Amino acid sequence: MSSQAEKLPGTAWPSPTAEAIVDFHDRLAAAYGPQHWWPIQDDANPRFEILIGAVLTQHTAWPNVDIAISALREAGPLNPETILAHDDLPGLIRRAGPHRIKAERLRSLCRWFVERGGFEAIEALDTATLCRELRSLHGIGPETADVIALYAFHRPRFVADAYAFRIFERYGWWPGSRRYERLRETIETALGERATAAFYDELHALIVAHAKQRCHKQVPDCARCALAATCAHGRGQAGP
Ligand code: SF4
Repeated sequence: MSSQAEKLPGTAWPSPTAEAIVDFHDRLAAAYGPQHWWPIQDDANPRFEILIGAVLTQHTAWPNVDIAISALREAGPLNPETILAHDDLPGLIRRAGPHRIKAERLRSLCRWFVERGGFEAIEALDTATLCRELRSLHGIGPETADVIALYAFHRPRFVADAYAFRIFERYGWWPGSRRYERLRETIETALGERATAAFYDELHALIVAHAKQRCHKQVPDCARCALAATCAHGRGQAGP
């Protein structure tokens, strides 16, 4: 078995070691540079903008989310009270995919935010409670909850999204079953206390960049990939 992996408990599959994950991160960081996530329009209230953006970006490309956030900002200050008071919230976020569904999700998130007492009170929640409460809200699943916990509350959470599964499967780190919590816990257990929120922030952003620029869904561009020497699929493409 590779020195960069240990056996995943209960399976014949390797699980990445902390050193291998750091190496994976560092190779991508060298290839793509700092990612500067999360993209923010208004520095006056960046954390609330992250909450809104995390919901709007579900199954929606970021340029359309950006347009929807601009429309919300033009219609009033970006805060939960104003969003809950909009007569035509679906109309304002029309560009961000299924707008009626997302309007309900935004309202649910804003009501929770207000009832919970805002950022200062929510900050007092431990990470497990924060994520559990977010996941209890209408239309917020584990990925969106972890994105909010990571980027708005600076909690060390690995976002086990479809890009991570795709790349890790090809890399030789993950078996076929795409179970969100299992991948998140595997990565967080491997990294342990050494991984900060800043590390997870950049790791997720780099995975997204890599999935879009090299490790494409249909045909990965292994010939130009910074991970080719350490990736199981990439090594298989290299030939004798
Ligand atoms: S070598 Fe190919 S399959 Fe592996 S991470 Fe790079 S692009 Fe993806």
